[in-house]
Amino acid sequence: MKYSRPKGVFDSFPEASWKSSDNFNWLTAHLRKLAQSFGFHEIITPIFEKTELFIRTSGESSDIVSKEMFTFEDKGGRMMTLRPEGTAPAMRAYIENQLEQNKKAQKLFYFGPFFRYDRPQAGRYRQFHQFGAEVIGVKDPLQDVEIIHLLMESYRTIGLKNLSVNLNCLGTQSARHAYTQALKDYLGQYLPELSEDSQLRFENNPLRILDSKDPKDKEILKTGPKILDFLEDESAKNFNYIIDQLKAVGIISTVDPNLVRGLDYYNETVFEIITTDLGAQSTLGGGGRYDSLLKSLEGPDLPAVGFGTGIERILLTLEAQQSLPVLPPDLFLYFIPLDDHAKHASYQLATALRQHNIPADLYLRGRKLQKALQFANELGAKYVVVIGETELQQQTIKIKEMSTGAEQSVPLHSLISTIHNLWRTHV
Ligand code: AMP
Repeated sequence: MKYSRPKGVFDSFPEASWKSSDNFNWLTAHLRKLAQSFGFHEIITPIFEKTELFIRTSGESSDIVSKEMFTFEDKGGRMMTLRPEGTAPAMRAYIENQLEQNKKAQKLFYFGPFFRYDRPQAGRYRQFHQFGAEVIGVKDPLQDVEIIHLLMESYRTIGLKNLSVNLNCLGTQSARHAYTQALKDYLGQYLPELSEDSQLRFENNPLRILDSKDPKDKEILKTGPKILDFLEDESAKNFNYIIDQLKAVGIISTVDPNLVRGLDYYNETVFEIITTDLGAQSTLGGGGRYDSLLKSLEGPDLPAVGFGTGIERILLTLEAQQSLPVLPPDLFLYFIPLDDHAKHASYQLATALRQHNIPADLYLRGRKLQKALQFANELGAKYVVVIGETELQQQTIKIKEMSTGAEQSVPLHSLISTIHNLWRTHV
């Protein structure tokens, strides 16, 4: 094989597997409709941005910036990065286009490819896709509830099961500072015993030590200070309110005091949705509040809250739970012409159906009926019409339903209206 795809990426095409293009289209169409029903509008931003945007927002010491960015110099000598996440580009676009004037742009959702240079494994790719949502300008904690609710509805309505919702509250900047200091004071006593990674983080991003998977680190953290003890009254009240309101819509959450998420810009609420069916890459989605992000990018002083979830991980989890959808065949009528006249007639008939958005196609790969029928079968055609000399002479056509083999004869002049009726009962 002369050319192969780069490491950590995959091709998506019609096939019977979780990563088929049909599954991607089904899922994104579903999520788009759902987001719209929650009052969100779509934003589409470029897949590359100036590198400095991500350094500024994610933080120099985050995994994304320090290890995972696909960065390149363009021909003008500018540093560009294939977007590793969706929030910073959405906020950049919000500020640059002065979207605070645009009422439809206060609740945004996005889809698209994202890029991270990480060690590939099941559920972790170098190009992956995310569905994300952001609400700008609302401080009310019910907004946090709605964001988590939309994310959970995304999962529930496509049939995902066994998910846990982990929540934490990082409080205000000052609570976070006080906590960070207390954490450092505590961990400082154990510094030589911490993992190498955590020792590095101790100086440049101590809160990230809470994320550590190292068993010894985890043991040490057990008796360490907890952020929840450092919250101001307002934060604690809002946090409890969020937990209660989630319960009221049927979402039971678990408080995880070690949940910080990797990026610098979060404050107050952070959350992650975990599945037990995905092995190591168990986080399906997550997000939180970032009330100072817009201002830190020299934008308006507006609060924001949002989430991002991986399309691949959703599909992989559906597969693991044996809940991938059985998608209805998208080809409604397949014409099999047996000679040149029939080919012409078939093309005219298919055109008439396509003009009414009825999926129709014709076989142009030879004159062997058996082969053509097999082809139609593998395409998943709902109905097949074979047209030859006899049919054209007698002006009568047989419509065959592929799943049952049942046939009905109709006069050629009423074929289109008959197909219309069948289509109406089908959709
Ligand atoms: P994050 O921005 O890291 O919170 O990621 C949000 C979601 O995107 C994760 O929960 C995953 O579902 C998905 N995701 C992140 N990184 C990858 C990756 N390398 N490959 C596949 N999915 C990913």
